[in-house]
Amino acid sequence: MQTAELSGLPEGVAEHLREEGIEELYPPQAEAVEAGVTEGESVVASVPTASGKTLIAELAMLASVERGGKALYIVPLRALASEKKREFERFESFGVSVGVSTGNYDSDEEWLSNRDIVVATSEKVDSLVRNGASWIEDLSCVVADEIHLVDDANRGPTLEVTLAKLRQLNPALQTVALSATVGNAGEIAEWLDAELVHSEWRPIDLRTGVHYGSALHFDDGSQEEFVVESGENPTTALVSNALSDGGSSLVFVNSRRNAEAAARRLGGAVEDQLTDEERARLAELAEEVRGVSDSETSDDLADAIENGAAFHHAGLAREHRTLVEDAFRNRLIKAISATPTLAAGVNTPSRRVIVRDWQRYDGDAGGMKPLATLEVHQMMGRAGRPGLDPYGEALLLAKNHDELDELFERYVWADPEPVRSKLATEPALRTHILATIASGFANTHEGLLEFLERTLYATQSTDPGRLESVTDRMLDYLERNGFLELDSGNIEATGIGHTVSRLYLDPMSAAEMIDGLRGSEQASALGLYHLVARTPDMWELYLRSGDREKYTEIAYERETEFLGDMPTEFESERFEDWLSALKTASLLEDWASEVDEDRITERYSIGPGDLRGKVETAEWLLNAAERLAVELDLGPDVVASISAARQRVEHGVGEELLGLTGVGNVGRKRARWLFEAGIETREDLRTAEKSVVLGALRGREKTTETILRNAGHPNPSIEGVEADESAAVEVEPDRGDGQAGLGDF
Ligand code: ADP
Repeated sequence: MQTAELSGLPEGVAEHLREEGIEELYPPQAEAVEAGVTEGESVVASVPTASGKTLIAELAMLASVERGGKALYIVPLRALASEKKREFERFESFGVSVGVSTGNYDSDEEWLSNRDIVVATSEKVDSLVRNGASWIEDLSCVVADEIHLVDDANRGPTLEVTLAKLRQLNPALQTVALSATVGNAGEIAEWLDAELVHSEWRPIDLRTGVHYGSALHFDDGSQEEFVVESGENPTTALVSNALSDGGSSLVFVNSRRNAEAAARRLGGAVEDQLTDEERARLAELAEEVRGVSDSETSDDLADAIENGAAFHHAGLAREHRTLVEDAFRNRLIKAISATPTLAAGVNTPSRRVIVRDWQRYDGDAGGMKPLATLEVHQMMGRAGRPGLDPYGEALLLAKNHDELDELFERYVWADPEPVRSKLATEPALRTHILATIASGFANTHEGLLEFLERTLYATQSTDPGRLESVTDRMLDYLERNGFLELDSGNIEATGIGHTVSRLYLDPMSAAEMIDGLRGSEQASALGLYHLVARTPDMWELYLRSGDREKYTEIAYERETEFLGDMPTEFESERFEDWLSALKTASLLEDWASEVDEDRITERYSIGPGDLRGKVETAEWLLNAAERLAVELDLGPDVVASISAARQRVEHGVGEELLGLTGVGNVGRKRARWLFEAGIETREDLRTAEKSVVLGALRGREKTTETILRNAGHPNPSIEGVEADESAAVEVEPDRGDGQAGLGDF
């Protein structure tokens, strides 16, 4: 089918697609159109990676908008939201407006009501429904990208329940679900009352196989000689070989540390094949990477990039990841070693994919566990860039003959696992039952079970009693904690229950926080950081060797600061969890005491991305704690101490600097410099001698002018102003609120 034959799209879109080089629809796209995707029919497209699923979604959304409707595109990762928005913005010249929902979890983002296409994560959509965003009811088309992730125990239930809610709110809603090729896509289609488009077609051939001995063994039974010299690393040999033929490589490994080590090695293999021009551009890129964050990870990444290689994992800052992905797509970076985070969604195709590690450490299993077939297939699907590569090649590595056989059976020839709903678990149901009732989707026991009938779980379940029994247990839990009232068959959310739902808290987190705050008249920052760190909404930092002793000592030293009861050392599991929360709390306290980013990342063995993630989560939870404290009338002192602790985390400064950090361009370092020079507030910035401000800011003229302007100075110009050198006061590293030595081990 030719794009020119498409009907129902905004004027000019078909022409535009042709200009982009999309003249003819790929077969699965044509099938989706035949199934009615441009006419409002619901469709599940189970199609291999890089086979044009996005266009199916775009056609559905554009046609829906053309009919006067509004579309929502649900992405699985936050990083993808802005990428997708940028992609869809090319349709703005045809009168289609695009918005991405990035606000806090407790906002309704009414401004999105005049956007034709909205992009958001499933958590964000869930929170918008909970906060009663009015435009949700105007939706005519919803797209769920990577729907197979409903199988994910942590995030799957949210996607599942959110789709069920959207469809209940709007029975005429068109649902388009995009999936990797999975065996039971038919079940997903049945759940969503959708037509199934299932295809194995790919725009570019994919050869999959295993390297073993001196050969590459392919899925079609063929073999190719590939000798790895003794002492040579097979991965680097494969990467270097692909590059000598002009192709880039993606290497998947099982840990961050391995990704970093592999990037160093890959740089060695890639470096001598770079041109001088590439070297110069890579050096520039490395500088940019160093500027993103002041940390060892940033430096290591920059070092690898100078040699044409990079690593990619969740410990990187978002800006790092974008720089790496863009440079790889532009063929400047020749090889990336990545943890599986990269396989999920981000569009970084390459000539060759090497799945170096097919086992990963699993804490629950207490050892190494093989990766899921679906996951490995997703990684392999990244191989082959249409129009650039003659074919894609995805390889696993075997050390012996048995492993060769196992890899063929497990991954090369195997079908992926079926997608299974993970809804019937306590954490998922405790959260979603409260939200479902608080937002009015059900108000009786029966109604609740009826609502749950709309989920994939119900479509798949052979044991409906299980869902009901977990539901009953969770209803009981929610009632006991004062979030729900059950009265002769009727169920209602209490005031605090509504608040918890709107704040997007796990009810267990809310219960923990309420419990801790209720008993206290005042709270120290550390106490509050510990309180939020021990909720299930904050992921744990593992205790490493020696940490147990270290944090036990701190626990006793600062015993009076903690909110709620401290478990005894004999309750070993609870105590361990409590200590690991203390480790997170110490990290947050260090951050809020102006300890440098590189020292923190080193001290806690984390990446800059982790630090930012922790800080963001703490900000959100402390904001929620503050709202709960107000609602529960816990008194102005408690509220004020939570507010101060939150602002300190937000800006990474001691309390005395909060008067400065609100001024644009005054970060944590500059605020400290100004403070030490006697400038303590916004008002001071307006009235102080400019020479002092300039001196405190280390003579940086442009920065000084910008800051003065942001502070509302009537005349921010510093023309003719001499910096007062004495204002450049030395600041001790790790200064803080008297506790700075705490994490210093
Ligand atoms: P998926 O979402 O299935 O992983 P994408 O939608 O990202 O795959 O598509 C991969 C690439 O193929 C994109 O660069 C896209 O522009 C291109 N593409 C999609 N459909 C067509 C088509 N019909 N003809 C040519 N190129 C296409």
